[in-house]
Amino acid sequence: MDFPLDRERLSRTFITLCEIDSPARSEGKLAQHILSYFKNFSALEFFEDDSTFSTGSDTGNIIIRFPGTKPERDPVFFNCHLDVISPCIGVKVNRDDSDTFFSTGETVLGADDKAGIAILIEVLLTTLENNLDYAPVELLFTTCEEIGLLGAKAFSPSSLKAYYGYALDSTGIDNVITGAPAANYIIAEIHGQASHAGLNPNNGISAIQLASKAISRLPLGQLDDQSTANIGLISGGTATNIIPDFVKLKGEIRSHSVAKLHRHIDHFKSIFSDTINSWHDPGYRLDSHPAFSFQSPEQYPLMSLPDDSDVLQLARLAGHNLSRSLHFGKAGGGSDANFFNHKGLPTAILGIGMDHVHSNSEQIKLSDMQRTAELILSIITI
Ligand SMILES: [Zn+2]
Repeated sequence: MDFPLDRERLSRTFITLCEIDSPARSEGKLAQHILSYFKNFSALEFFEDDSTFSTGSDTGNIIIRFPGTKPERDPVFFNCHLDVISPCIGVKVNRDDSDTFFSTGETVLGADDKAGIAILIEVLLTTLENNLDYAPVELLFTTCEEIGLLGAKAFSPSSLKAYYGYALDSTGIDNVITGAPAANYIIAEIHGQASHAGLNPNNGISAIQLASKAISRLPLGQLDDQSTANIGLISGGTATNIIPDFVKLKGEIRSHSVAKLHRHIDHFKSIFSDTINSWHDPGYRLDSHPAFSFQSPEQYPLMSLPDDSDVLQLARLAGHNLSRSLHFGKAGGGSDANFFNHKGLPTAILGIGMDHVHSNSEQIKLSDMQRTAELILSIITI
């Protein structure tokens, strides 16, 4: 099937989007620019939610509704995030001889996630301009993904008519992500007792030493075939001659099994507890004991789509119609889709061909963007 996608317009749109600054919490200008592509089409609806109250962004999440011409089809949504990871101010896009896009090296490119946005714009413009028959579609553009999935977290699924959808936000091509781990932060604070290390060395309880003992007992890295753990931040102490009375550790545990996640969290907590409780006053008759606090707030919930879910069946069919076999697999990290799934909106993540994301050597090929656009067009026009 030959689709009339405009490859050069896709390229121009992508470059324009990348060169509009949109760090987290300042996505408003980009959102307005995206809307401008569709302002001249009647029958479309534009909606901005009230998530700014919790995200602190200069815009809410944005929805564009396309009524479709196939009322028998389920409405389907497509999502991209508007914000870009730093450094992302003043992006200049280069396109080389093999039609690959790079930044100049001073910033990221921003294909994550502007390649997805450009693809969606091109697919919907093509659909409308050529009067193609298509399912009801909603485009959902979220804010603050890179700083903790804040826009998706604050998003209410009742803002959508769609029953399920796709987030265009992964590496690889013809890839469909069907699952992603749940993750919780680990935040431990250890309180000792401060004392001058030279003058009153027996009057102190070193929080750093206690933290070290606890950390050395923590299982870190790959915990089992579904779970990982890391301590990524540590701070504490005031001076070389002061026995430190406070240390704070921050880390995370993630797992594709919620039961295992909670078992590991409990284990971590018990290690801190045992370490502190097994402290003995070495005979100096100190008037205090060490103490600790342990918190494990949720970072993002589990994503796990059943093989026979409508959203995966539709992707499979769309791939089949293009004579492509898609690769289905799990991701190692969380994204907006974790929250959509958790809120009852089955959402698969599609690979869009971006590579070396979150680095200044980020790149994407125009041919891969076109390939993804063909898949999206197939999904909505089946
Ligand atoms: Zn992304």
